[in-house]
Amino acid sequence: MTLKNGKQYEDSIRNMNMQIYMFGEKVENPVDNPILRPSLNSVKATYELAQLPEYEDLMTTQSSLTGEKINRFTNIHKNVDDLVKKVKMQRLLGQKTASCFQRCVGMDAFNSVYSTTFEIDKSHKTDYFDRFVNFMKYVQEEDLTVDGAMTDPKGDRSLSPSKQSDPDLYLRVVERREDGVVVRGAKVHQTGICNSHEVLVMPTIAMSPEDKDYAIAFSVPVDTEGIIMIIGRQSCDTRKLENSSLDVGNSQYGGVEALTVFDNVFVPNERIFLNGETEFAGMMVERFAGYHRQSYGGCKVGVGDVLIGAAALAAEYNGAQKASHIKDKLIEMTHLNETLYSCGIACSAEGHRTESGNYIIDLLLANVCKQNVTRFPYEIARIAEDIAGGLMVTAPSEKDLKAPVIGEYINKYLQGVNGVSVEDRLKVLRLIENLTLGTAAVGYRTESMHGAGSPQAQRIMIARQGNINSKKEIAKAIAKIQK
Ligand code: SF4
Ligand code: FE
Repeated sequence: MTLKNGKQYEDSIRNMNMQIYMFGEKVENPVDNPILRPSLNSVKATYELAQLPEYEDLMTTQSSLTGEKINRFTNIHKNVDDLVKKVKMQRLLGQKTASCFQRCVGMDAFNSVYSTTFEIDKSHKTDYFDRFVNFMKYVQEEDLTVDGAMTDPKGDRSLSPSKQSDPDLYLRVVERREDGVVVRGAKVHQTGICNSHEVLVMPTIAMSPEDKDYAIAFSVPVDTEGIIMIIGRQSCDTRKLENSSLDVGNSQYGGVEALTVFDNVFVPNERIFLNGETEFAGMMVERFAGYHRQSYGGCKVGVGDVLIGAAALAAEYNGAQKASHIKDKLIEMTHLNETLYSCGIACSAEGHRTESGNYIIDLLLANVCKQNVTRFPYEIARIAEDIAGGLMVTAPSEKDLKAPVIGEYINKYLQGVNGVSVEDRLKVLRLIENLTLGTAAVGYRTESMHGAGSPQAQRIMIARQGNINSKKEIAKAIAKIQK
């Protein structure tokens, strides 16, 4: 089976035996947990949309490894067109879920590990590439969701992995065996790991020879013994326990992150894709980060589309849609959002072939894309809050709206334009609240800042890729400076 439908995906996650903790307790049934369920629905949407004929071209493609039709989230990019369609697919999913749909980290990890293992083998005569291709065939045939795990806790940022006071602050090999290795450590902020089948672990920074035990990449099922997930809190998360779809703003979809501990986890040899070749850790990190910085030019734009639409509706329900400043604010939001999309498309269109044969984005443009993402969603959110007005954060609950006497007061005094119910007015305000201050703000705001690397990480790459010397030369030529 190369394409799972939504139900098959849900059942496959239900059959796993993950160690998930939340509020100090083990979650025995994560699939039906009201706090976690919306995040599973977002990943499920990546399966459901792939079944629809109208999205077939964006959501599916032909595998370069097996020739079969696969979900694009498991694709090894074959050409520039694949890179462009990836961004378009992410915008679509952002529009459909208004949240982080989590499956991109795996896709970005696949493409980074694919090209990097090829180059490691060339210089070390290892067989990581073949191992990884076998793993990818399995991922594509089973249509798996894979969490790409990069970020270590990092402890004292001024010290390298092997110099930390606690050696486990970066994930490392603690035992080498004939049949594999045992690893210990943690990966933080793991997007969607509790909705994934596998976790593909990579190093988090470039490394020197003394960090050999930390230069490790591998994949294992997320219910492997020793893997423990501790779910991160989100603003307003327990509203989902109140049984009010109005009050949560987006009752169907969400994202989720977890602190993931690897407590002496065994990794068999065939699942190891980097093991001590420290000089390639940086390449793997840089490529993964580049792909994921491209991704934000799609997903955040799709969520931005929802927020712009919600702001326009809020203005309409207030009778303010014809005010010139409202029109101008919607133009500004659209301009910012489409600028992000332009960056996502540009770094894809300027992509090129790697030695392994897959395609990679233009790294400079991908980093510019993400640098803009650290800013523009904040401005789009600010304008949305401006248009929404204070009621977005002072409106009573759905229970009050539905209560016998006070409900009548609410319906009388929170009325906007004729013909729009108070309930609909509150629904759109709660959606804006969800995107700017609630559970989805993790994905739309703070993840825009820190996901795929914090702003300074992009500035370092922009400095490295910007080629100031060639710009000096062209300036000299114009100014007729000889040396
Ligand atoms: Fe995908 Fe965006 Fe979520 Fe990253 S933040 S996993 S790119 S939806
Ligand atoms: Fe992310």
